[in-house]
Amino acid sequence: MENKWQYPHRRWNPLRQAWVLVSPHRTQRPWQGEVAQTAIPSAVTYDPQCYLCPGNTRAGGAVNPSYETVFSFVNDYAALLPELPAASEAPASPLLVAEAVRGLCKVLCFHPDHSLTLARMTQSEIRTVVDAWTHEFQELSALDWIEYVQIFENRGAMMGASNPHPHGQIWSTGFVPDEPAAETVAQRAHLDSTGHCLLCDYLAAEQSSAERIIFENEHFAAVVPWWATWPYEVLLLSRRHAGSLPEFSSAERDSFANALNRLTTRFDNLFHTSFPYTMGFHQSPTDGKPHEEWHFHAHFYPPLLRSATVRKFMVGFEMLGMPQRDITPEAAANRLRDSSELHFWPRT
Ligand SMILES: [Zn+2]
Ligand SMILES: [Zn+2]
Ligand SMILES: [Zn+2]
Repeated sequence: MENKWQYPHRRWNPLRQAWVLVSPHRTQRPWQGEVAQTAIPSAVTYDPQCYLCPGNTRAGGAVNPSYETVFSFVNDYAALLPELPAASEAPASPLLVAEAVRGLCKVLCFHPDHSLTLARMTQSEIRTVVDAWTHEFQELSALDWIEYVQIFENRGAMMGASNPHPHGQIWSTGFVPDEPAAETVAQRAHLDSTGHCLLCDYLAAEQSSAERIIFENEHFAAVVPWWATWPYEVLLLSRRHAGSLPEFSSAERDSFANALNRLTTRFDNLFHTSFPYTMGFHQSPTDGKPHEEWHFHAHFYPPLLRSATVRKFMVGFEMLGMPQRDITPEAAANRLRDSSELHFWPRT
């Protein structure tokens, strides 16, 4: 089935309403299965210099509690502030448009152990993080000025993560940011024209072909999407139609923790490294309007291409024309399916 798409073509991303160029003929050399370099993650469980470790003093002067599970706080150097700034003088041209914005940026530590990652945490430890994400979403969405809650994790120095301590961020905004805004329009249009949810229909299509599904558990499915841009991009979807974390049952939250653990372990095992990525959840806007079109999902955007050090760059034609990939999503799904769910560096 990998050979079906071995010619240049473009694929439609219905969620983002955009094309992706696929050029598989460029990588017809066979997969070597070789690992250029093994990058063992740090084994340091407590770093006195880390501003996220329990009991440490952060740069702003605040002291972290001696937390034992998860810990969240408002970012000391937030990109957005909750107070609405005073409007400045209107620019002279209608082409120079700006708007004052509000937001709240929080940090969520996943675990007190500095050396861990989602891949090396247990399912029950990740379940605690899922509950914390759910709680944060509920609390932030209850603020009437917050229209969107973006939960994400930047993992690894390659993705610009400044600190290896297991943590993620939660940026809440007084407006719906561009990516979820575009996905809202696409999901709304699909629901209006077909009477169905876009991602429920998409998941059914993936389940009937099975070419790009990496694994499914009782409540979630991990897929290399048809329109994947990054080499090992993954879409993690709830199997039931639900718009946001608080809609999930306890069993579904367990399944979500299970899926996150299995997927990140497969990623790490692929190149025997702590796999870098940006991942985040897309959920219903919290703008007070009904959003029956919204289907909860997580995007994983990992940059690695061939080894722990060889990454893909989005440059040249991709900046000026459109995104492009070499290996097909089907080939990427095969490799992730072949990757073990037993971590290469188990906890002792
Ligand atoms: Zn730390
Ligand atoms: Zn759905
Ligand atoms: Zn999305």
